Amino acid sequence: MAKIPFNKPAYIPESEDYVSQAIKSGHLSGDGPFTKRGSALLESLTGARKALLTTSCTHALEMAAILLDLQPGDEVIVPSFTFVSTVNAIVLRGAKPIFIDIRPDTLNLDETQLEGLITPRTKAIFLVHYAGVSCEMDIINQIAEKHQIRVVEDNAHGLFAKYRGKNLGTLGVMATQSFHETKNISTGEGGALLINDPRLIERAEIIREKGTNRSRFFRGMVDKYTWVDIGSSYLPSEMIAAMLLAQLEAAQQIQTRRKQIWETYFEELSGWSTANGIRLPFVPDYCEHPAHIFYLLMPNLEVRTRFIEWMGAHEILSVFHYLPLHLSDMGVKLGGRPGDCPITEDVSDRLVRLPLFFDLSDSQLAYVIETAKSFKL
Ligand SMILES: *Cc1c(COP(=O)(O)O)cnc(C)c1O
Repeated sequence: MAKIPFNKPAYIPESEDYVSQAIKSGHLSGDGPFTKRGSALLESLTGARKALLTTSCTHALEMAAILLDLQPGDEVIVPSFTFVSTVNAIVLRGAKPIFIDIRPDTLNLDETQLEGLITPRTKAIFLVHYAGVSCEMDIINQIAEKHQIRVVEDNAHGLFAKYRGKNLGTLGVMATQSFHETKNISTGEGGALLINDPRLIERAEIIREKGTNRSRFFRGMVDKYTWVDIGSSYLPSEMIAAMLLAQLEAAQQIQTRRKQIWETYFEELSGWSTANGIRLPFVPDYCEHPAHIFYLLMPNLEVRTRFIEWMGAHEILSVFHYLPLHLSDMGVKLGGRPGDCPITEDVSDRLVRLPLFFDLSDSQLAYVIETAKSFKL
């Protein structure tokens, strides 16, 4: 059996045609026909009020932080169990991240700890729907409303997922998506900012266009194109948008296959995991997840290390995930200490992810399962 990678971006033949059309059209910079079609499709798939394509989820998070006017003195509650970009966006504005621990079941921020971390300086909550399984949004939004705090969803994992029938990405004031190579829908690098509060749309377009009113100028809504606010270059090129359109048009096909793989792992590994003290992903019955990650929670770090080696020796790449950000070099500089987020610290040592991608064949899937089950704890 040839080596099985952890991830491989879905190859969608139509993307070649679309990218080539974009190149031949001569309109290579952003905001052309493919950007319009891609963002319209993203709006209809998510139900978000407005979808603005961006160069990455990292940049969409930076835009969200600017749009909330985060500044020195402000505090933002954020899980330590996330990718650096969720927190960088806060720190880049000079605001202070307040790390919150996760729940041991869904690995999402523990909403019961929220009120204890809120101070008069708390401006926002940047949450992450880990593996696309929703955070407890009713409770979180209720707390946020009571304290006049804005909620931003880092929805990098959660495109197409639902919470109590509602789409993730529409449950905060804004949400950010990633189309990085490692995500379900991928353009190599890419992302989007979903905006659910219409009052933020116009300024978001300005921030994405280097702080200019270029978008309004081209729509004929203003007669001068000028510098009106801070901003940066967050608009992707038409080739990226063309690739996104092809990927989004194939979303159902991609999602169907990913879900099959996820369900097969879950069913085939259930008995084995229970017998060996290994925990499989937990999905509350009111959450629909997008099959972004399939993880195993091993009994301890030593077993996980041996498991990754065992899979590797059989030419299968399985990988761990986030290291606690509050214990990273930067996190420690910001005041993080061991024991601040005990569940995060524990889970991060024990979690391992299995290969999960569109092109994974049935025989590869069977081989991964068989190899995992033959691992001796
Ligand atoms: C992938 C990811 C990001 C970063 O996405 P980019 O598009 O690479 O910037 C941010 N947050 C989370 C939770 C992610 O998984």
